[in-house]
Amino acid sequence: MDIKEKDNKINLLEFGADELKSIVEGLGMKPYRAAQICRWIYSEGADSFSAMTDISKADREKLSEIAEIRPPELLERLVSHDGTEKHLFSLHDGEKVESVLIPDEGRLTLCISSQAGCALGCRFCLTGAGGIRRNLLPHEITGQVLVAGAGRPASGTAGKGRKITNIVMMGMGEPLMNAGNVFEALGRLISPKMFNMSPRRITLSTAGVVPGIKALGESGLGVNLAVSVNAPSDEVRDYIMPINKKYPLKALMKALKDYPLAPRRRITVEYVMLRGINDRPEHAAQLGKLLRGLRCKINLIPFNEHGGSEFGRPDEASVHAFQERLHSMNYTAFIRESRGVDILAACGQLRGFSARKTLTEAPPGV
Ligand code: SF4
Repeated sequence: MDIKEKDNKINLLEFGADELKSIVEGLGMKPYRAAQICRWIYSEGADSFSAMTDISKADREKLSEIAEIRPPELLERLVSHDGTEKHLFSLHDGEKVESVLIPDEGRLTLCISSQAGCALGCRFCLTGAGGIRRNLLPHEITGQVLVAGAGRPASGTAGKGRKITNIVMMGMGEPLMNAGNVFEALGRLISPKMFNMSPRRITLSTAGVVPGIKALGESGLGVNLAVSVNAPSDEVRDYIMPINKKYPLKALMKALKDYPLAPRRRITVEYVMLRGINDRPEHAAQLGKLLRGLRCKINLIPFNEHGGSEFGRPDEASVHAFQERLHSMNYTAFIRESRGVDILAACGQLRGFSARKTLTEAPPGV
């Protein structure tokens, strides 16, 4: 491997644990140095070789001549009144993505992005309105976890580390439209040599990319699966989620029923409730019928209205009536309020613009 390209230092975050081992061996270092470096980066949050005090000075110098540790640049961090944090990152080519950190009863959940923008164009989603820019690479996905875990303020000054307990891949983008890079990133998150997280604490959320659901099941990664169903019929779903024309509900339900779920685990069905579109009692009955036979729990998410959106938020009574109807059909259904609404960090509100700008100045067409 040519590990130094011209004068550019390589970014160690781009490499998996085995590739890192080849790099240190290529430098004439003992192979176990790779495990030490991984521990410093992924457990201790080190962003420089000087912090790696159990590695000899000579080896640290060799490393710093050819390599660096370069996570995505944190441009901005906004904190909501409910404690939710939104992070805006700049990638090496200037693309912007966002992640959202949600503290909740002893858990610290990070919602991460898998693409800059999104091609799927769900009608209720600001990310989709801007189209797709590009797929994120594995280290650009996991880098969001490193930076949020380091708790660095936007200035880049090192802060006190904090433990991310749960990850949801529900930020910008459709993860299963970037499955190769996303699966590699998930592998690094659960690798004992790297982030060492339990797959049970990681959830991938999809809009219903049927071949991707099958591939995820076959990958053996063992992470949780959430699916944005959002409609009880093809008629409604075609209108709000164009992907339904490619993978209609029948194909989606088959893929979900075929999905290899471990015992006692369930698929999460996400259902964004839009006033007058999918929030009526007959929709609840239809949804119950659609999901029959699927091991699932249902999250009802009342829509967060934002300027320019054609959709409204259902009133509380409709939301509770919908939930009751599902309960009466023996489903587990929760009402989930989005967090960070005041900083545009709620579901469907991420778009990779300067967060401060979005608070004061809506872009054209929004
Ligand atoms: S809801 Fe998800 S899949 Fe749909 S446009 Fe937004 S980011 Fe893409």
